[in-house]
Amino acid sequence: MHAFIGLGSNLDHPSQRLISALWALQRLPGLTLRQHSRLYTSAPVGPQDQPDYVNAVAAVDTSLAPHALLHTLQALELAAGRQRLRHWGERTLDLDILLIDNRAIDSDDLQVPHPQMTRRAFVLLPLLEICPHALLPDGTALSSFLGQVTEQPISPLAELDRNALIE
Ligand code: ADP
Ligand code: MG
Repeated sequence: MHAFIGLGSNLDHPSQRLISALWALQRLPGLTLRQHSRLYTSAPVGPQDQPDYVNAVAAVDTSLAPHALLHTLQALELAAGRQRLRHWGERTLDLDILLIDNRAIDSDDLQVPHPQMTRRAFVLLPLLEICPHALLPDGTALSSFLGQVTEQPISPLAELDRNALIE
């Protein structure tokens, strides 16, 4: 199974958190980190009285089933000290499953493709950086949504090159 994972943080050294999370993905049994984007910084979605975010997207191959992958990512969020403070509020680490092959999943605790991904520059830009021709399961090119997110401020950070952490 091939999957894209969105990473985000805006608390307690966000860039370092994302780099640590990429290393943690790399070390997970049943998962291989294939590619990662650069780190990007973006203004918060939702409450505005919180720090800017650092985001990235990782491409992985995994033998984990979708819900096992979700639970594994949630364990990494908790290990990073994540507390659920408020909806779309600040967090030390957010790991979202964006795409899994060309599957559509709609269960109570897991929706794939991630329902918000086509509306968020901080998902689209890093994902298209590593996979310019990525498609939704219905065949729509993700690049076709770029025109709708041009208002969202986002810029790459210099401190991590693309794929710097691939072993
Ligand atoms: P958000 O990422 O939207 O800010 P959270 O990270 O707090 O929200 O996650 C809220 C819930 O979203 C989780 O409990 C999880 O069950 C659910 N969820 C549904 N689809 C996904 C997905 N594709 N990836 C990660 N979590 C998901
Ligand atoms: Mg999340």
